[in-house]
Amino acid sequence: MTFSAFRILKEGLTGNTGWKPHWRDPAPKQDYDAIIIGGGGHGLSTAYYLAKNHGLTNIAVLEKGYIGSGNIGRNTTIVRANYFLPGNSEFYSHSLKLWEGLESELNYNVMHSQRGLINLFHSDGQRDAFVRRGNSMINQGDDAILLDRDGVRQHLPYLDFDNTRFPIFGGLLHPRGGTARHDAVAWGYARGADQRGVDLIQNCEVTGIDIVDGKVTGVQTTRGAIKAKKVAIIVAGRSGQVAAMAGMRLPIESHVLQAFVTEGLKPIINHVVSFGMGHFYMSQSDKGGLVFGGDIDFYASYASRGNLPMVEHVMEAGMTLMPMIGKARVLRSWGGIMDMTPDGSPIIDKTGIDGLFIDCGWNYGGFKAVPASGWCMAHLMATGQSHDVAKGFRLDRFLTGRGLMDEEGTGSQHNLH
Ligand SMILES: Cc1cc2nc3c(=O)[nH]c(=O)nc-3n(C[C@H](O)[C@H](O)[C@H](O)COP(=O)(O)OP(=O)(O)OC[C@H]3O[C@@H](n4cnc5c(N)ncnc54)[C@H](O)[C@@H]3O)c2cc1C
Repeated sequence: MTFSAFRILKEGLTGNTGWKPHWRDPAPKQDYDAIIIGGGGHGLSTAYYLAKNHGLTNIAVLEKGYIGSGNIGRNTTIVRANYFLPGNSEFYSHSLKLWEGLESELNYNVMHSQRGLINLFHSDGQRDAFVRRGNSMINQGDDAILLDRDGVRQHLPYLDFDNTRFPIFGGLLHPRGGTARHDAVAWGYARGADQRGVDLIQNCEVTGIDIVDGKVTGVQTTRGAIKAKKVAIIVAGRSGQVAAMAGMRLPIESHVLQAFVTEGLKPIINHVVSFGMGHFYMSQSDKGGLVFGGDIDFYASYASRGNLPMVEHVMEAGMTLMPMIGKARVLRSWGGIMDMTPDGSPIIDKTGIDGLFIDCGWNYGGFKAVPASGWCMAHLMATGQSHDVAKGFRLDRFLTGRGLMDEEGTGSQHNLH
């Protein structure tokens, strides 16, 4: 089934009776060439590119809940390529290029909107840091425009420019940054993988990883044992728990990140905006709700609900930046479990166990990485070699201390700005 304007018109005129389920609901086979644990954005894109780019189709994605139930359906949908350090910047640059062709690639409307992202700065020192970042983005082939105070005012006139503690000095505009509909990304990749023969098996929790003589041989699940010579752990906030099934202790802590959405409002914000003096960012959804978030909760947890002090902190940052937000009613808030690494950068690598791969450590920024992560993880699983743009994402950097990529010098703790 393909989507087209003609198809929508035809279905609209004939009672919408011709739509089919987007993917099959197969029973697990006893044996696959490769198993992917985790049906989030990264697991699904890995399966899709294994099939599409490498012709490997005897694959299962095992998801303990339903497709889209994890962070892929819980994030604040920001897509950008404004990383600073070599190792990160080429990867996110590659990802943004994949985003730009994703809807036609998947024949799926993921509502990718390049509305522009503005990072605000509030001091001369912070301006210098953003100038460096902007230059690095331009050198990487991405786009960045430095805005002075009046330049920001033209885009975002409703901000509090003269706040006594945090006056706005200017902003770095990344015009190709923006948002996308998060769960549609999962659905699009799921449908594309299924069309290429990948089995998507929902309600199938992996409970053990089988290893014989240092080689992976399969997994134990709530739906029985399944064999495979290649297994990938791609479970975001649950990475530590699933890796422990293979006897591994990862350099990952799991923390909750909360998000908030207000009642629907008329169009006000046509960019993604981030506050430079606290971790706060905001955009407006196509339904009109203001979508915003801030820091992670500061203690490790596997509970996907957040604490009240962080709610207060996020609201205070929002009110400081844009006082009129106080008139909007918050409709919903939720949390997701983030896989935080010590340097705030991810891992796409082999493990010490033959045939066992790991893709994790996306911190609170893994949505924008979904296309490139799948692309590079598929490359690694199919060829045994790291992809050029993901060479830095090695697991052993935390053992050796070499090759750490700490974008802000704060590790995974953005509150240490
Ligand atoms: C509130 C919030 C806001 C965010 N905002 C942004 C943003 O604006 N931009 C951005 O780039 N990133 C953002 N992120 C981060 C981003 O969402 C994550 O980094 C990314 O989604 C993680 O990868 P994933 O999609 O594969 O994870 P998930 O969707 O969580 O996928 C992992 C899957 O593994 C499954 N699983 C776990 N254990 C097992 C098991 N034993 N067996 C089988 N399956 C298992 C889970 O059920 C889950 O479905 C945000 C996250 C949150 C929570």
